[in-house]
Order: sequence, then C-alpha cells, then structure tokens
Amino acid sequence: CGIVGYTGKEHAESILLGCLKKLEYRGYDSAGISVTNDSIHTYKKAGEICELEKIIPENLNSKTGIGHTRWATHGIPDTDNAHPHNSGNISVVHNGIIENYQTLKEELSAQSYIFISETDSEAIAHLMHRNLYGSPGSKTPVTNPLEALCTTVQELEGSYGLAILCECEPDTIFAARMDSPIVVGLGEGENFAASDVTAIIDQTKRVVYLEDGEIAVIRPDEVNFFDKNAKIVHKNETIIEWDA
Ligand code: GLU
Repeated sequence: CGIVGYTGKEHAESILLGCLKKLEYRGYDSAGISVTNDSIHTYKKAGEICELEKIIPENLNSKTGIGHTRWATHGIPDTDNAHPHNSGNISVVHNGIIENYQTLKEELSAQSYIFISETDSEAIAHLMHRNLYGSPGSKTPVTNPLEALCTTVQELEGSYGLAILCECEPDTIFAARMDSPIVVGLGEGENFAASDVTAIIDQTKRVVYLEDGEIAVIRPDEVNFFDKNAKIVHKNETIIEWDA
C-alpha cells in the first residue's frame, strides 16, 4: 500500500516512521521498516504504526532504510506477512501484486530458498537474492545489485512499486516501478523514495517520478536512473507547488 525510503545523515528510523504516518490516510493493516547500520535490521508488526514504533529500539544509529504500510492481498494481516520481506542480507518492500509468484515460489523453493510468509511479495526478496548471490547460503555476489535488480524485474509479472536494501551497498536504496507509483525525493546530502509524494512533501519539494520499467539507485549524494537493461535514463525533476 505505502512505501517510503531514506538515505542521508539523519536517524533513518525516525524519518521513515514520520513519512509512513503521512500515508496512514490511505489505510493499512500492518507496517514495518528495515534499516542498515552494520547489517540490516527489520521491525514489523500487524496493526498501527504506533505499535510498530514501540518495538523499534533507540540508538539504532542507522542512516538508510525502507518502510511499508501493507494492505494485504495475499496472506492474512500478521507479522510474518508484513513487509519488509528479507532473504539473507536483502530486504524488500512491495506494493502491488506479483501474478507469477506461485511459479517463482516453486522455482526458488527447489533452489532451497525458504518461504516464511504467505505473500506474493516474499518471492521478490528471494529472487533478488538468487540473482545477486546465486544461492541461499552464498555470501559472495555473482554480479552487482543493479544488474541483479534488472534480472529480477524482467522475471516479475504483475504490478510493483519496490524499494530494496542490500547489505553489500548499505547506503543505497534500489527502487523500481511497474503499474504502482514510485517517486524519488531529492534533498541536500539526503534523498528519499515514496509511493506517494505526500509522504515526503515535508522533507523536500524536488521530486522525480519513475515511469513503468524504470529503476532508481538512490544514495545520499546522488540518484541515478536506469531502464531495466541497466542503461542510464536522464530524467527531469518536478518542483511540488503545494503543501501537505
Ligand atoms: N501483495 C502484497 C501483499 O499482500 C503487497 C500489498 C500492498 O500493496 O500493500 O503483501
């Protein structure tokens, strides 16, 4: 239902929670965040964002993360089915519906990936891991995250807005879109991602809207855009003229 992402200098968890609260009006049944410091830490919970807030420790000292409010389509609203979904050191939030998730689940399960949720979205996390690391136990990337994401989106059928963290590039958010909106917010030494500009309007008025089939690689000091063959795409920024 709702996606947010932050990478910069501030405490990522408090910025993500603030941005998620701006999306509460859209409705949701569970919420979660993943943040990186030395490794990826994921906190998620069925129910309201204020309940999620209670389980997030203080002093996480993280400067990059992704967050999600879920409106369940596949699997009941519970903690396991809440996003983010992780596979090894990869964490994914997803809006939309993956139509071929059963086929992907069978293929990835046969390669020893273990599914713990009933969602269509978890298949994206394992697929991304398989395309980046080759197998569940591997700690050595077989390619870079951008190439792995390109392969991943080419294998997905259905709709997706995605934000992904990879421990191998801990300050970077990888985002992608197909029939489910993603907007990138541009700041000074910090950048944002969201499914809806309302989430980030208090943080920045400078945004870039992803088109279907595009990918954004978001770092604190730069954002680059690509098509699904990893070819650079030049995009224009939009200045938002209204306040939330
Ligand atoms: N299909 C996914 C799920 O059921 C994502 C739902 C959403 O867009 O919030 O978990």
